[in-house]
Amino acid sequence: MSEIVFIVGAGASREAGAPLMADFLDTADELRKVDKDLEFRSDFDRVFDAISALQFVHSKSELDLDNIESVFAAFEMGRVINRLPGTSGKDIASVLVGLRRLISKTLEKTITFPVRDGQIHPHPSYESFAGLINSLNNAVRQNRCSIITLNYDLALDYALHFHKHPADYCLSKVTRPGFKIPVMKLHGSLNWARCSKCGEIVPWDIDAFLQKFPVPFLEKSEFVSLDLPFRLSSSGLTHCGEGVEPDPVIAPPTWNRTGYHRGLSKVWSRAAWELSDAENIFVSGYSLAESDVFFRYLFALGSVGKTRIKRFWVFDPDEETVRPRFEKLIGSAIKGRFRFRDMKFSEALPVIRQEFLSEY
Ligand SMILES: [Zn+2]
Repeated sequence: MSEIVFIVGAGASREAGAPLMADFLDTADELRKVDKDLEFRSDFDRVFDAISALQFVHSKSELDLDNIESVFAAFEMGRVINRLPGTSGKDIASVLVGLRRLISKTLEKTITFPVRDGQIHPHPSYESFAGLINSLNNAVRQNRCSIITLNYDLALDYALHFHKHPADYCLSKVTRPGFKIPVMKLHGSLNWARCSKCGEIVPWDIDAFLQKFPVPFLEKSEFVSLDLPFRLSSSGLTHCGEGVEPDPVIAPPTWNRTGYHRGLSKVWSRAAWELSDAENIFVSGYSLAESDVFFRYLFALGSVGKTRIKRFWVFDPDEETVRPRFEKLIGSAIKGRFRFRDMKFSEALPVIRQEFLSEY
């Protein structure tokens, strides 16, 4: 159980190059137009065709078809009820596969890692974050930090790997305290695959990936991207004596009772457990969208009866929108410990470091 819990969202990865949810489809469409050799172009086309068809049929609906989360949720619901206006029932599954590939490819193309001295470095903001975690987990007080993230990408994972304290994804109970950092990826991750027999989630650690597929021509590159999600089928990962499915485990942030979230529930219950006993909660780059009912429930159930909390600090550059959402979320017991700062992720890190500086 961690004394300090960080909650990070899309705003944190935006600084590493990832588009925000509202810009995601525009960025993917731009890639489709600009990159003539784009792999999986047919998947991109299939997704945009399905969105256009949905737009045509549902011109008066409330669906926000410019927002990837809303589109993902609509497609997923279409799969469950076997009905997606404008797309035939038998094609819904392939539209969803296409959407996962579009998300993976867009994140791979937009999040690039700087290369210096023949070595791949994390993006500066995540490098500072991993450095802060290492400082907080100092010799005197180990294992005091854990991270809950809403992001699928690997920018944080790479930074932790680089700092020699890789992520423990909390997918199983076996951990090595003090070595790995608990990282709960609530909506899945580009480096997670499903066992093709039982459906359990099997993570592919960055370290194992780079050993198997070293990035070529490092000495000649300034930036590189990690194509890990497209190599899952050659990962050699096994479970139940079988291989894994070829596409990464990424789920829309909507409540879904269909069993689709199999495996992720372990991550969620761990996150609720961490929230239940944290003394300090720092949120950055997560805007708590009105539609994110799932996180509201998780937080409410995880923080019931909470009285020990010392700090609940939220950092976001959009104070007008985000501050009232969090004020509404938190219970009266926490209100006195709530603080909001109009800051980006990279700006928040030194503030948190300063707060704990006297302990070092
Ligand atoms: Zn299995």
